Amino acid sequence: MKYISTRGQAPALSFEEVLLTGMASDGGLYVPESLPTFSADEMREMAALDYPALARRIIEPFVADSIPADDLKTLIDDTYAEFRHTAVAPMVQIGANQWVLELFHGPTLAFKDFALQLLGRLLDYVLERRHQKVVIMGATSGDTGSAAIEGCKRCNNIDIFILHPHQRVSEVQRRQMTTVVGDNIHNLAVQGNFDDCQAMVKASFADKSFLPADRSLVAVNSINWARIMAQIVYYFYAGLALGAPARPVAFSVPTGNFGDIFAGYLARNMGLPVERLIIATNSNDVLHRVMTTSTYGRQPLEHTLSPSMDITVSSNFERLLFDLYDRDGAAIADLMQRFDAGDISFSEAAMTRAASLFSSHRVSDEETCAQIAATWQQCEYLLDPHSAIGVNAALNAGLAPEVPVITLATAHPAKFPDAVAKAGVVESPNLPLHLKDLFERRERCEVLPNTLADVQAFMARNLSA
Ligand SMILES: *Cc1c(COP(=O)(O)O)cnc(C)c1O
Repeated sequence: MKYISTRGQAPALSFEEVLLTGMASDGGLYVPESLPTFSADEMREMAALDYPALARRIIEPFVADSIPADDLKTLIDDTYAEFRHTAVAPMVQIGANQWVLELFHGPTLAFKDFALQLLGRLLDYVLERRHQKVVIMGATSGDTGSAAIEGCKRCNNIDIFILHPHQRVSEVQRRQMTTVVGDNIHNLAVQGNFDDCQAMVKASFADKSFLPADRSLVAVNSINWARIMAQIVYYFYAGLALGAPARPVAFSVPTGNFGDIFAGYLARNMGLPVERLIIATNSNDVLHRVMTTSTYGRQPLEHTLSPSMDITVSSNFERLLFDLYDRDGAAIADLMQRFDAGDISFSEAAMTRAASLFSSHRVSDEETCAQIAATWQQCEYLLDPHSAIGVNAALNAGLAPEVPVITLATAHPAKFPDAVAKAGVVESPNLPLHLKDLFERRERCEVLPNTLADVQAFMARNLSA
């Protein structure tokens, strides 16, 4: 399978090349040239598979020319063996035809483990074969950092450096990063804010001369294609469990960068009957504004109770736009160039297409707390603030009662104890057993001044041999 850029000017790449590349050289994002599809008969058979076997079935066509089937099986089996529920992604019913897909049974209690556990293994596998080592650099305000570190902790060919703003991430989130043991893992607490960290990452990708010539820099943010690919699997898993292909299902997805919900869109295009994809946002509602006004524009960031969805721009939305504009790379390049200068509007044809599958709903902090409380009172089920936004959007989507709605629960409530306490239902949710001693574990973290030179010098000094 070949991958092409949404802006039409970068060379087409193989899966292995895409895995090692972040953004395309023309500034676009890579997408598959075409998608594998599954017939109704095939899907009926797939409904009997366990999670790793289903993952193999769905992922194989995307990677077949880069990874032999037996090796892929090992990588996938190892990945999902890390999850602490035998179903990997279990479902819970919280209302008449309302379901919650629990995506938080991985090592860091958030759905990002589904993609980053696999990504680390895929990277290490191809690097070993190429006798190559790479450096992963990323900035985090919370979830992505810990999931990336957990995903790379056993990767001999990867040095990982994660920058976070010193004293500005929650204690649970910091400890989930700094207590992971491994010589190749480096937590850098930068004496600045998240934007400072992100600017340093951006500058380092633009000028890699601080690294030796044989070390390339790899991004693990949500524009990495392999992350999206891994996320397609649980849409099929949940949909098939609730009666697809015989009956269509809908999904409500707590959305930030549009990576997770884009995987749902791909599942639909691969054959899964999806009635609706609900974009659930917090008050950082750039996508809700797109859906309701056809205008894409930046607004100031708001800090909410659902910090993993606090974004001003949804980078993966470009991948959907590419399809909405008939895969016209020049049109996307033009749109994105104009977006750099200010607000842009989308064509009526593009928006009509989007509205035939997607709807959106914005949920405030007050509504988030009210939803956590309401779901608790109705069925003693505790939602984290991100998942509560998804459930609230699902209940307000106005779908026919016979359509099952599956809300993606993207994080475990114990990750966000403050929001849960604010909702007034339980004092403080318990961490799962494997993290019970999180507050006793030794932390490893380097506090660095807020300058690019200090950060890059630290990285250059701490590369593995
Ligand atoms: C990353 C994240 C999201 C948003 O996912 P996107 O793919 O960026 O849309 C939602 N909830 C949680 C808990 C997350 O960590």
